[in-house]
Amino acid sequence: MSTLDLTRRRFLASAGALAAAPLIGAAGAATAAAPLLGPMESKTYRFGLGDFEVTMIADSEAFVDGPWPLIGGNTERDEVDRLMRANLLPANKYRPGFTPMVVNTGKKVIVFDTGNGERGFVPRPHGGWLAKQLEPAGFKPEQIDVVVLSHGHPDHIGGLLEKGEPLFPNARYVTGAVDYDYWSSDRPSGDLAKHAALYRDYVVPFAEKTTFLNPGDEVVPGIRAIGAFGHTPGHLGFNVESQDKRLVFWGDCAHHQVASLARPDWHCVFDVDKEQAAKTRAQMFDMVATDKVAVSGFHMPFPSLGYVERRKGGGYRWLAHTYQLKL
Ligand SMILES: [Zn+2]
Repeated sequence: MSTLDLTRRRFLASAGALAAAPLIGAAGAATAAAPLLGPMESKTYRFGLGDFEVTMIADSEAFVDGPWPLIGGNTERDEVDRLMRANLLPANKYRPGFTPMVVNTGKKVIVFDTGNGERGFVPRPHGGWLAKQLEPAGFKPEQIDVVVLSHGHPDHIGGLLEKGEPLFPNARYVTGAVDYDYWSSDRPSGDLAKHAALYRDYVVPFAEKTTFLNPGDEVVPGIRAIGAFGHTPGHLGFNVESQDKRLVFWGDCAHHQVASLARPDWHCVFDVDKEQAAKTRAQMFDMVATDKVAVSGFHMPFPSLGYVERRKGGGYRWLAHTYQLKL
């Protein structure tokens, strides 16, 4: 090593020290610990679908005890727990999405399901966020032209009213004819009677502004109802299509992204007709897996978008959306 080398090394070392000195001195704050900010998650997600634009909005991030026995109540707990462990998920709690969807067709702005609101399944402050999340998502309640209700459960209708007033002052409403007939009748009993009471407060008052659909009926051009009866007597999904792009909103055909998909035959405690719901679930999974179509699943983890793969050994698998819908 020559003297020159040594000198150069010393120079570099001292230049480094000099350069570093002002940073350390002037910016005492830079070396101080930054405050911890707490967890942060996005509550909105938007993408284009042909000429349409679709915005997903988180109505809750609450955890729920389960999945067993809420899902898989007709099998042994151990079987459900083992499936959770195999998927690196806890067996005693899970976090369903609660994800209303806004579709702007360019002509109409349509909300699919309204979340928990003030009296839903997940009460405030842990749920009922749609009203507050509309603005950060880019919408004002008065811009909503159509409110579509997949079915009459509290976590889907609860956002229709805010402090007793309609949240969407300019909207018309759309729901399934069979579902409306059921929830507005005196047929629901037990827990279902409580849901029916909420329905009478939240949905029935809008009857004159409501269009009652049967499977196959059109909401607006490009959006049609799909019969998905069972979860509730008239539960509907919706096919959303623009140009060559398609999305299926399946409402409550699944309540857990692993358990419901792996075993469509496992009962869900929220299904009014459990056998029919299981059949519908299998049919819906078969359709979206065969068509390889994107799915908007209300209770899938936010942003509640994905695809369904048919597994060789039976059952299905949820493939959460990454960037496919951005292409
Ligand atoms: Zn639901």
